[in-house]
Amino acid sequence: MKKLLLVLSLCMVLFVTTACSGNSEGVDVGISMPTQSSERWINDGQNMVKEFEAREYTAELQYAEDVVENQVAQIENMITRGVKVLVIAPIDGEALTEVLERAKNANIEVVTYDRLIRNSEYVSYYATFDNFQVGVLQASYIEEALDLKNQEGPFNIELFAGSPDDNNTYFFFDGAMSVLQPYIDEGKLVVKSGQTKVEQVATLRWDGSVAQTRMDNLLSAEYTTDRIDAVLSPYDGISIGVISSLKGVGYGSGQPMPIVTGQDAELASIKSIIAGEQTQTVFKDTRELAKKAVAMVESILKNEEAEVNDTTTYHNGVKVVPSYLLKPVSVDASNWKEELVDVGYYTENQITQ
Ligand code: BGC
Repeated sequence: MKKLLLVLSLCMVLFVTTACSGNSEGVDVGISMPTQSSERWINDGQNMVKEFEAREYTAELQYAEDVVENQVAQIENMITRGVKVLVIAPIDGEALTEVLERAKNANIEVVTYDRLIRNSEYVSYYATFDNFQVGVLQASYIEEALDLKNQEGPFNIELFAGSPDDNNTYFFFDGAMSVLQPYIDEGKLVVKSGQTKVEQVATLRWDGSVAQTRMDNLLSAEYTTDRIDAVLSPYDGISIGVISSLKGVGYGSGQPMPIVTGQDAELASIKSIIAGEQTQTVFKDTRELAKKAVAMVESILKNEEAEVNDTTTYHNGVKVVPSYLLKPVSVDASNWKEELVDVGYYTENQITQ
């Protein structure tokens, strides 16, 4: 009884979102996720907990709600409670150096999840997607939709990038610019705002309302007479913000929506794609990512080498972190059923209701 009370109070103090283990001293894995404000991280966390449970490991899942200090404190708590491995998707990739020193001193290994933890040698593995390819898929979609290889243009485009403290932001943006830059140089694509550098177009904490405000400003400064033909958006939450702004000035009713890309295949965005507003998203199967991360943790716990398929790409400032990169998939109105419903990621009801 005493032990149960202790467990319950610890669970409450730590705001453990799910899977608070029945044995407070024996939690194997601490999972630290950035935020519940985006569906994908909720799925990531739940998928990992399920996978760990299926392999009979105990796991504790916490969300830091995009507050860096919360994440550091939550990880510190997990270290104190004696987890054996940490799985972390950082909010700020550069803010965990010290807390990882503490993990190292407690013999806890770390798997960095989806986003790379930078500036620490104490990161054993990285489970993620081919992040450069995500940007390539978004930009190639724009290239094809505007038929840039054959059309003269010029077409107007504005660029959005993710949070400047997320290493992925640069991979997505560089991937996209590897396709778009030649068209910009040639004058087929015109960025009327002139904002083409990642630091000019970044969106702190991937916040859709920040993107919406920036889009409002772009539309009123640059597009009162000219039309905008495409928006490179790196993430569905940003796309939804951009689309609200576009609708506010008549796109989607008076005149057609520009091409708007996205990422994560969030439900709101799939619905928006079906409604003809957002054009594309990039699906990254969080079930597969969870499996990879859990397999890495299991290898660590068994003192074995984990399976990786990339040992060159992800230098975190201190070392190259051995990685497993999964394949992202481009989704639009033509293939959402086969890519999302047929594979059991969503039910058709979830999308159409
Ligand atoms: C993830 C994306 C996600 C974004 C915002 C990135 O690090 O890779 O899938 O859209 O964060 O949460």
